[in-house]
Amino acid sequence: SHVADLIAAGEVVERPASVVKELVENAIDAGSTAVVVEIRRGGMGLIRVTDNGCGIAPAELPTAFLRHATSKLRTEADLGKIGTLGFRGEALAAISAVSRVDILTRQAGAAEGASLHLEGGVPGTVEAAGAPEGTTITVRDLFYNTPARLKFMRKDSAETAAVNGLMQHLALSHPDVSFKFIKDGVEALLTPGDGKLESAIYAALGRDFARGLVPVSGSGGDISVSGFVTAPLMGRGSRSMQVFFVNGRFIKSQLLTAALEEGYRNQIMKGKFPGCVLSVTLPVTAVDVNVHPAKTQVKFAREHDVFDAVYHTVLDALDRTGA
Ligand code: ADP
Ligand code: MG
Repeated sequence: SHVADLIAAGEVVERPASVVKELVENAIDAGSTAVVVEIRRGGMGLIRVTDNGCGIAPAELPTAFLRHATSKLRTEADLGKIGTLGFRGEALAAISAVSRVDILTRQAGAAEGASLHLEGGVPGTVEAAGAPEGTTITVRDLFYNTPARLKFMRKDSAETAAVNGLMQHLALSHPDVSFKFIKDGVEALLTPGDGKLESAIYAALGRDFARGLVPVSGSGGDISVSGFVTAPLMGRGSRSMQVFFVNGRFIKSQLLTAALEEGYRNQIMKGKFPGCVLSVTLPVTAVDVNVHPAKTQVKFAREHDVFDAVYHTVLDALDRTGA
């Protein structure tokens, strides 16, 4: 029903950044090597995601916007590992329910592409259209038909900042994909997509941060830790440059922060914090599945082991720098 669609939409689409996240994850799922994200007015005016992925067949276009429509084969076992999943065919339906959407797509090798316009989830007709290989989805007037939600939106600048942060995290967790992010007509991020984390860090977090990073790689049992940390005594004024991924997902965690900082022992100046881009990989069963996949929190089953793995890996890396 329409109401059920709107309720579901509210869960998936909280703000422009959640739209961007879903669209970019779809682009990555489609095998894209280059993704362009454009927003205007914090995404409230426009969100456009262009990819060079597999595209969608014209006949499948309306289906993709139905609730529970997914082309991604998933077993019951997959559904248990919710940490690795998106919304199981909810995203496009939810986004289109609360906005005006245009999609233009062409499958690799197809002679022709197709376009479709949806208004509050109601699809028009699929039209043949010339298009580059891949998919462009444009979302306009987000929440235009849900005034209550519109009223609770924060300033455009806050939404822009949220999308900006998200784009940094997407770029850092997918160094093999080239990301371009354009906000209000200005290019804010461009990563080469050369597969090197250093390149993505340089592009996303800046030259100053990228200077003197210490590579980190190790494991404790079935928990592996890899990435980069800032050199000793190169602390930063806040913890905003501590970026953690758990099984590929951006996570905020006091446990991980504490483990990182413990690794530095006395090598941090007062009022300064080390920075990092660290990936923690562990069996999906060791992460609580009840934590909502869109949220940035996670609950570890064996907190002590996770702490030790991060702490020792960081300590080893810093020791090797001779500091
Ligand atoms: P899910 O990603 O969970 O399958 P979505 O609602 O996000 O559900 O997308 C529905 C379907 O639309 C996908 O399964 C996929 O077949 C198709 N799709 C969405 N975005 C793209 C894209 N950028 N490129 C190719 N196919 C896409
Ligand atoms: Mg999806």
